[in-house]
Amino acid sequence: MVADGWSTKAAEALAVHPGFRLADLDTRGTPGFGDGKKTGAAITRAIGERMSDLQERLFAEGRTGGTRSILLVLQGLDTAGKGGIVRHVMGMVDPQGVALHSFGVPTAEERRHDYLWRIRRALPPAGKIGVFDRSQYEDVLVARVNELAPRDVIDRRYDEIVDFEAELAKAGTRVIKVALMISRGEQYRRLHERLERSDKHWKFNPGDVDTRARWDDYQEAYQVMFDRTSTPDCPWHVVPADRKWFARLAVSQLVLDALEDLDLHWPSADYDVAEQLARLEATR
Ligand code: AMP
Ligand code: MG
Repeated sequence: MVADGWSTKAAEALAVHPGFRLADLDTRGTPGFGDGKKTGAAITRAIGERMSDLQERLFAEGRTGGTRSILLVLQGLDTAGKGGIVRHVMGMVDPQGVALHSFGVPTAEERRHDYLWRIRRALPPAGKIGVFDRSQYEDVLVARVNELAPRDVIDRRYDEIVDFEAELAKAGTRVIKVALMISRGEQYRRLHERLERSDKHWKFNPGDVDTRARWDDYQEAYQVMFDRTSTPDCPWHVVPADRKWFARLAVSQLVLDALEDLDLHWPSADYDVAEQLARLEATR
């Protein structure tokens, strides 16, 4: 179903197809969506209600022997709005049904294992919507830019990650990959605000400026990642994120559409309802 306001289904409007060029992306754009902020925000709220209902069905399925789950993978440079998505989009559903994991610089223990080790441990259990704030893709992004591993090792990871995601799909986890992309100017403004406002100082990390100084290298690393890991079965969705309301609308819609695709139903009781009613009555 194409929701009001969308002229093209979000998943199609945002998906990375062969030939996609990040350099041509309008980060203030609203692909597939013809309306503005007010309508967008209203649609996001409506999406939230439907999402919440379907999320509860997924949770119920997981509690009654189901094996399916959803995994939302969020990537984006500092200030792209990953945290805002977690708060505003996932905040619309029951927190019991969400399994959030943020991936930072690997700990000593994590470094002793393969890069997918910490990822596998964080996968959502059946019935949950997992959210990764950064992910396995850091190992082809920051790792590539900062040469944290030899180039041939990093080169192999693209295919490894594609295989890993196919494995997840087989096991019942529907992976939604979202890259929130902002412009260089927008990142400057957001970082500047973090330095200007004392209530935002905690969000700033001096390393963010070093990362920003490698802007072009990151854009290239993202382009290679899109080229090599956006597949028909598990495409990347590039979400222009200079306008926060659009990013939130787009990600909400992607998650909702994934839930709708699962065709979720309330599990039927594995007991005799009439019999249990009779037993309950007897205790009145
Ligand atoms: P934040 O998301 O702002 O808390 O920052 C987390 C930091 O951890 C970012 O600078 C990431 O680039 C970094 N990070 C995440 N995963 C990895 C990784 N696998 N290797 C190196 N750095 C990483
Ligand atoms: Mg940060």
